[in-house]
Amino acid sequence: MTDCYAVIGNPVEHSKSPQIHAAFARQTGQDMSYTTLKSELEPSKFSVTVRKFFDEGGKGLNVTVPFKHEARKITIVAPGDNAYDADAVNTIKLEGGKLIGYNTDGIGLVTDLERNLGFPIAGKRVLLMGAGGATYGVMHPVLAKHPESLVVANRTLEKAVTLVRHFRKFEPFTAGGISALPYPDLAGAQFDLIVNATSAGLSGEMPPLPPDLCAPGALAYDMVYGRVTPFMAFARQCGARAVDGLGMLVEQAAESFFIWRNVRPQTAPVIAMLRTGT
Ligand code: NDP
Repeated sequence: MTDCYAVIGNPVEHSKSPQIHAAFARQTGQDMSYTTLKSELEPSKFSVTVRKFFDEGGKGLNVTVPFKHEARKITIVAPGDNAYDADAVNTIKLEGGKLIGYNTDGIGLVTDLERNLGFPIAGKRVLLMGAGGATYGVMHPVLAKHPESLVVANRTLEKAVTLVRHFRKFEPFTAGGISALPYPDLAGAQFDLIVNATSAGLSGEMPPLPPDLCAPGALAYDMVYGRVTPFMAFARQCGARAVDGLGMLVEQAAESFFIWRNVRPQTAPVIAMLRTGT
């Protein structure tokens, strides 16, 4: 019997996950379907929709905006998984009648940076912009790669301060420490890796950044994908290499696929397929 999977979110219609998982299933010969599932925004409606999906025979869910923290509350987090530190779940698997939660966003970003883009994080001065669910998901995996230092900047500073406090125990992974800053305080600082984990690019905006932010050889990474965002255009003007988040999307999906099916799909052909639209 075909096993059923879906991505739940609101909005979710735009999601590329069905295309990605269909490609993985074809490639690895897995008998599965993967659709989108829209939930109403109230947390209680979200948990009812999730329960109904699994009661009707669903095997696994991806969780997207804005439900990742909510998904953490209704799942048992797998021991040692990034979902525990992230306090957010983007992958749910039904195991022995229980909903087990995982977070694959961080490994998706790190794999795209290090393996696909050939950009090791160790020793780099890292700026992470944003303090939402995506930033929580990538903090520990990025810190575990031993950057020189990590700064989190956010429009609402308190959220960045709370986030940095949450991850303070991982500060020894860096030589130079982790800190939270408002955007104006970035003036005069330079970074080797700048990750835009805000949703600003979706509305054609970008955080207010000083012009000399990119160190020579810097990589600018926007988690938003499928377009050249204002942040990517800014970074290119500064001489940095700028990329979108499509590789992260496919890599986090591959990790979810592995959790569900215990089979590792090849990601490069799927990234290429999505880039060329063929
Ligand atoms: P959240 O809604 O949880 O957080 C959004 C963040 O963006 C907040 O920090 C918010 O700041 C900031 N922000 C929004 N608009 C602006 C703006 N105009 N200027 C400055 N800051 C702004 O979203 P997520 O963290 O879940 O996701 C962030 C982005 O990452 C989304 O676009 C999402 O699609 C993308 N993403 C991509 C993935 C991939 O695989 N490529 C995986 C996960 C996420 P404030 O706190 O002040 O409101």
